[in-house]
Amino acid sequence: MTKTLFAKSGFTRILLIPFDHLNADRGVLKNANPTSDIVLLVQSERMVTGRPFHKERLFFLISSARHFAKELEKSGFTVLFIEAETTVAGITQAREAVGELPVLCAEPSSFKQQSQLAKFGVEFVENDFFLTPRGLFQEWAGSQKSFVMENFYRIQRVRLDLLVTDGKPEQGRWNFDADNRLPPPKNYTWPERLTHTRDEIDREVSKSLNYPPTYSWATTREGALRQLEHFLEHHLAGFGPYEDAVTLDEWSLHHSLLSPYLNNGLITPAEVVAAAINRYNQGEAPIESVEAFVRQIIGWREYINGMYWFLGEDYKELNGLGANRKLLPLFADSSKTKMNCVSQVVSHVETRAWTHHIPRLMILSNLALVTGTNPKEFLDWMREQFVDAAEWVMVPNIIGMGVHADSGRLMTKPYAAGGAYINRMTQYCKGCAYDPKKRVGDDACPFTTLYWDFLDRHKDEFKKNHRMSQQVFGLNRLSDLPELRVRAKEVLTGLSNGSI
Ligand SMILES: Cc1cc2nc3c(=O)[nH]c(=O)nc-3n(C[C@H](O)[C@H](O)[C@H](O)COP(=O)(O)OP(=O)(O)OC[C@H]3O[C@@H](n4cnc5c(N)ncnc54)[C@H](O)[C@@H]3O)c2cc1C
Ligand code: SF4
Repeated sequence: MTKTLFAKSGFTRILLIPFDHLNADRGVLKNANPTSDIVLLVQSERMVTGRPFHKERLFFLISSARHFAKELEKSGFTVLFIEAETTVAGITQAREAVGELPVLCAEPSSFKQQSQLAKFGVEFVENDFFLTPRGLFQEWAGSQKSFVMENFYRIQRVRLDLLVTDGKPEQGRWNFDADNRLPPPKNYTWPERLTHTRDEIDREVSKSLNYPPTYSWATTREGALRQLEHFLEHHLAGFGPYEDAVTLDEWSLHHSLLSPYLNNGLITPAEVVAAAINRYNQGEAPIESVEAFVRQIIGWREYINGMYWFLGEDYKELNGLGANRKLLPLFADSSKTKMNCVSQVVSHVETRAWTHHIPRLMILSNLALVTGTNPKEFLDWMREQFVDAAEWVMVPNIIGMGVHADSGRLMTKPYAAGGAYINRMTQYCKGCAYDPKKRVGDDACPFTTLYWDFLDRHKDEFKKNHRMSQQVFGLNRLSDLPELRVRAKEVLTGLSNGSI
């Protein structure tokens, strides 16, 4: 399309749609006019080759954006889909074709993108892809001594009027987790998982990436809505009880698999939450599951996004525990470890760029934490590998929750655990070369050894933390502490050279 063609058409604005704003009712598209606005999507080279991204992730992001562009065209918009070195280079190309029109975008979802686009003169409208405006969250966080998610969540329930009557929580409790957190069930039949078929656009993207994607992820709003419906129909009722379990026979358990679509805009948190509560009101799902699910979305997801903006751009550089070990080879290749839990979880990530919350927290992050892996290297790996990764969500989840690099600004205590926890909540230990109960000896579980070694290495910091003092005190009961320290050194060397 030529400059003259666009100039004659009388467009007055360019609407920039980043690949995580794919929703016709949100952001700049909410008030768009197909006769005066031209829509621009830029596939930047930096986004594709800037890091060694998992191709499953690239496939999902690019194909979703291409499908979305096509949908907008069908609804009457003129759409420019430009491949360029950077987003800014793409905007420049668009202006060459269209003329020096103002560029509008919804507030981007990372500090970096926001400042790059602002410097280039892009004008922002409010980012309404979340349920909590950024200013409102800042007000809440600015008034808190410590940032307890549960406190934020209760305010959200009342503010959004969800599962509350006259300010009181449904069925008398705000949180039903005491009824959840069950270990993996025995002889349980998991419902069939939904698979997503591929169309011509998917095939083109797959070819351009030279990668055959799995059938795990939809690339259209229609597919995302099908995933939501499947979750509501087959999984919501069982979501709560097995939320924290990890099994050998089913990788997604009762999890919703909705994070990729919530994060790229294909579906909104408001519609997901409304649909789940509707199932509760129809008597089709119990409160302990519906409340747990609603908490993930209006609580955790909104809290993490709010904290990303509240904590500031430098937060991701923190390394409060002075962790400087290089990323372990097992993260790049699941066959580089004999630890069954780690090997299996990394192999799930290799296959489909996803694993649920507990493997992310209690296996991958726990390993990075107790081995003293450099937080930035671990953060980069997670950002490259996960289908749902984005700066705003990875930074607080990893730097704060996962590896405690922020010295407790987000979470009051580190999520460090030994083999006993993993043995209780997963089915990995039975098939493992190591024994979760042992902390010393050649067959000691590396998690158990390193858990104690981690407490020992940081006992001076943790002694002052009232939530950790009891665990640190436990070190005094270890008669084999000298042996354990020797074994921990062997384990760390073995993990670094791929022999453990
Ligand atoms: C170290 C670490 C890294 C993570 N990285 C990401 C990430 O890059 N992208 C991402 O979307 N989530 C991330 N999470 C949060 C969570 O693990 C995923 O959202 C969830 O596993 C996605 O699967 P699901 O959609 O089936 O979730 P479900 O278990 O079905 O939960 C429903 C929804 O709740 C939201 N949610 C729950 N917990 C969180 C949380 N801590 N932060 C933000 N949203 C949450 C998600 O939108 C999720 O889709 C991370 C958690 C940890 C501990
Ligand atoms: S024994 Fe230790 S390393 Fe092996 S699966 Fe269990 S927790 Fe993981």
